[in-house]
Amino acid sequence: MSEGNSTAGGNTEGRRLAELAKRRGFFFQSSGAYGGVAGFYTYGPQGATLKTNLEEAWRDRFVTREGHMEIDAPDVMPEAVFEASGHLDTFDDMIVECPACDATHRADHLIEDATDIEEAESMANEAAMEVIADHEVGCPSCGEPLADEPVDNFNLMFGTNIGPGDAAPGYLRPETAQGIFVEFPQLAEYARNQLPFGVAQVGKAYRNEISPRKSLVRVREFTQAELEHFVDPETDEPPLERVADVELPLYAAAAQQREEGTAVEMTVQEAVNEGVIESEWVAFYLGLAAGWYDRVGVDMDRFRYRQHLPGELSHYASDCWDAESEVDGDWVEVTGFAYRGDYDLTNHAAHSGEDYDIFKQYDEPVTVERPTVDPDMSELGPTFGGEAEAVAEALADLAGRNPDAFEGNTVTVEVDGGERTVPVEQTGFAVEEVTEAGERVTPHVVEPSFGVGRLVYTVLAHAYETDVVDGEERTYLSLPSALAPTTVGVFPLMDRDGLGDRAREVATQLREAGLAVTYDDSGAIGRRYRRQDEVGTPFCVTVDYDTLGEGDSPDLAGTVTVRERDTTSQRRVAVEELSETLQSLRRGDIGFGDLG
Ligand code: AMP
Repeated sequence: MSEGNSTAGGNTEGRRLAELAKRRGFFFQSSGAYGGVAGFYTYGPQGATLKTNLEEAWRDRFVTREGHMEIDAPDVMPEAVFEASGHLDTFDDMIVECPACDATHRADHLIEDATDIEEAESMANEAAMEVIADHEVGCPSCGEPLADEPVDNFNLMFGTNIGPGDAAPGYLRPETAQGIFVEFPQLAEYARNQLPFGVAQVGKAYRNEISPRKSLVRVREFTQAELEHFVDPETDEPPLERVADVELPLYAAAAQQREEGTAVEMTVQEAVNEGVIESEWVAFYLGLAAGWYDRVGVDMDRFRYRQHLPGELSHYASDCWDAESEVDGDWVEVTGFAYRGDYDLTNHAAHSGEDYDIFKQYDEPVTVERPTVDPDMSELGPTFGGEAEAVAEALADLAGRNPDAFEGNTVTVEVDGGERTVPVEQTGFAVEEVTEAGERVTPHVVEPSFGVGRLVYTVLAHAYETDVVDGEERTYLSLPSALAPTTVGVFPLMDRDGLGDRAREVATQLREAGLAVTYDDSGAIGRRYRRQDEVGTPFCVTVDYDTLGEGDSPDLAGTVTVRERDTTSQRRVAVEELSETLQSLRRGDIGFGDLG
């Protein structure tokens, strides 16, 4: 849950972005008419489309191309689910309350802001209290010293009641993952009980954050795109060769603990060989995701993978890395990659009594020797009295673990902390040959968990550019064409002499070809370009007198001007080839320079 450490002051980038986001319809704080509520944001028309495009790009990469399935589970789940998952007991953040103004704060964030400590989340509450006192940390809202104020645990789940009354408590899911784990027995059937298989979900998650901050970065309702990849820990290996040469900027736990430690570039293969990344499955996903981040517009010079420090690991994870992007000098966790082992399935099996294992059929039935006991209770009863059953159970257990123990005349087992010795002839010990068709396996889980809102924020921040065009400063969003909310702006030079009608026809033609089009005929053409630049529209098409065959160049009849956002360079393209050309540009099959 960490958002990383602050490395430089100022938040100009975030402020600039929030201003543009509201003015141009990317995102804004919800319920403004009632004063707004911290941690809730509405995506406007541009932002909602950008978010959808990002989700589609995620599906394409992590679901469709990997051959996984996707589900859509409810946001509200009963309490029993979160008892089993551990969220009820352990999904807490450290809270400290100001005695003067009653404002509540995340104690670990106050410590990170006031000291050099990078991941205060892993501290014990008492240690956090000491640091707050030693550094004379004050309340960010009113300045009152917080020394001696208790640091407590605060559970982040939003509770609710299912149906009238309070007999059936429920919670808004704090991660989409549980909707997948709970349904594992059913999902395994859809996968024909064959490991490995992956199940994805893109949906809302809810966390009652103590102090929401930095607009989309820490909110109380957000979208996650999660993949749960179920694997056989004994036999399944990731296709590491597909990503072996991908370079990763790795900020390992050891480097974080060194004074001068920084992220180091190494390939996926090197990181595995040198034991920097423990789990090959996690390494595979770090490699796969790196190419994807680059494609969706994350600036890879402002990106790193950071390993969790030992005390920071979630209650379910054994090896965990975060993808972090840099915005305003702060590192923002955009994705968590966790090896969750069999934690979730084992716990749901134990709490629900259902079967969360996979029966793995062998290619051919296997004959194995199985030691068994069949104790003579008419002998054990008189000897051990009320303990006879326990002695029989201990003998059965010992036969499974250590059949050699039955080789002498007597065998000794432990019951209630004391040793009990039994003549072997009374144990009915035998080794039987049994034929087995397969074995039961509790799958392990590797999980990449992407925060969609934080990616929207990162992609916008990293796309934000300014330059000077025709002597005027301009702001533009250098978004990848496939992600931009609008692919093409269509303008008539002026709305007269049939230019507007022709331009509207062109817009309709492009929309019917499946392109996202904005038609704009208001104001000077330069201003229309600026409006599209600011929302990241990669191409603009202008219909002019030449298009109508009424300009100075008769050979340009039936062509339009296409202008590229980042370079502002222009080309003439025939209207009949326009939709195909723009589709190819959008997909990246051709570059703008390839147009004649
Ligand atoms: P976690 O389960 O804490 O590892 O979260 C998984 C991902 O969800 C993170 O990498 C974030 O991108 C995202 N996320 C977690 N908490 C929030 C939040 N409060 N606001 C926005 N995104 C979040």
